[in-house]
Amino acid sequence: MARKHSKHGPYEDPQDDEDTPEVVVPCWLCGRKTGNTIVWHHPVPKSRGGRDVVPMHPICQQTLIANFTNSELQRYGMDVEGLLTNPTMRKFVDWVANKDPDFNATTAKKKR
Ligand SMILES: [Zn+2]
Repeated sequence: MARKHSKHGPYEDPQDDEDTPEVVVPCWLCGRKTGNTIVWHHPVPKSRGGRDVVPMHPICQQTLIANFTNSELQRYGMDVEGLLTNPTMRKFVDWVANKDPDFNATTAKKKR
């Protein structure tokens, strides 16, 4: 914090610097590695007392919560295999498998 004499260099703002750790966490749902944006998802909804979180792609979480109610999510809990027996989820995971980790289709279309 005690930065004396800040020299103006090419790295003025280290925000986008490559200091991301090598550790890549796989997405809980699709198993691909996560991209720049990791969503920490509660398999059991927080409102249902869920405390564990799992790393997910934003698009995977969106698809998941769009296809299941809180009650269903609570029932499945950490059982991702169970979730993937749902045809819609299965199809989605197969489809997203070849996408870039940072791929994020706008599932919610803005109309204005
Ligand atoms: Zn994913």
